[in-house]
Amino acid sequence: MAWFKKTRKPKEAAAEKASRVPEGLWVKCHECAQIIYHKDLVANLLVCPKCGHHQRMSATERLRALFDGGTWTEVDPGLVSTDPLKFVDTKPYRERLASSRQATGLNDAVIVGEGRIEGIAAIVAAMEYGFIGGSMGVVVGEKITRAVERAIARRQPVVVISCSGGARMMEGALSLMQMAKVCAALARLDRARLPYISVLTDPTTGGVTASFAMLGDLNIAEPGALIGFAGPRVIEQTIRQKLPDGFQRSEFLLAHGMLDLITDRREMKPALARALRFMGCVPEADAAAPDAGEAAGPREAALPH
Ligand SMILES: [Zn+2]
Repeated sequence: MAWFKKTRKPKEAAAEKASRVPEGLWVKCHECAQIIYHKDLVANLLVCPKCGHHQRMSATERLRALFDGGTWTEVDPGLVSTDPLKFVDTKPYRERLASSRQATGLNDAVIVGEGRIEGIAAIVAAMEYGFIGGSMGVVVGEKITRAVERAIARRQPVVVISCSGGARMMEGALSLMQMAKVCAALARLDRARLPYISVLTDPTTGGVTASFAMLGDLNIAEPGALIGFAGPRVIEQTIRQKLPDGFQRSEFLLAHGMLDLITDRREMKPALARALRFMGCVPEADAAAPDAGEAAGPREAALPH
């Protein structure tokens, strides 16, 4: 008789029990690896409550966080790329466009909205990283240019929230031309004496950094954002030197005079409103008031301290 005879059948491998925790209820912070309740993270504008790491945010979420009441009127939503070069890399550009369109629900990598920031009428363009890396092609350039022209016509300030890998290679030189086009429009905005604030988020690189993202009357970045033109590897190979720690991050750039301000995302809306008021923008209700002198009183009292 065997010493160890199995009198009972081994337990059958437990059937895969469906987890009772719904998918996406908890998320892990990329920075501190803490597990965070998804709703808490959303309520905190995707900033980790434990370590303050700023997670990437979609263009829609950004506009919702910025505009009063989370509402805006979208401008030029229908512009689409025509794939002018009939470009094919690992797959046709046309297919890339189609799958990005499906994934994001947008027609291209920027949303332009018209709304109010603490009562101030403003035009905001927010870039969507989920759409081919937030790259700037003809449509992005055209939409931002039109946004600036619209602002000039309506005497409104412009805010552009950049989140981009740079120019869109699949549109070749046409996407590079957008840099000059947007910059020319911004020069006209400047001549019209209207404010332009650039908000740089993680990541802002390539042709976007090299054009409108760095041209703000005020350049504000989110903490820890990667901001640069070429990637660090390319630079290291070119200059044959080791790059310092924190190179191309917001804090490094602020210390070296490339940025004006680093603002926590949760403080971004009041910071923008304060800057716009400082630059002479007046909240709508006050602008409509018949006597400016009288309106100044209550407005002063309403300023956040
Ligand atoms: Zn964290």
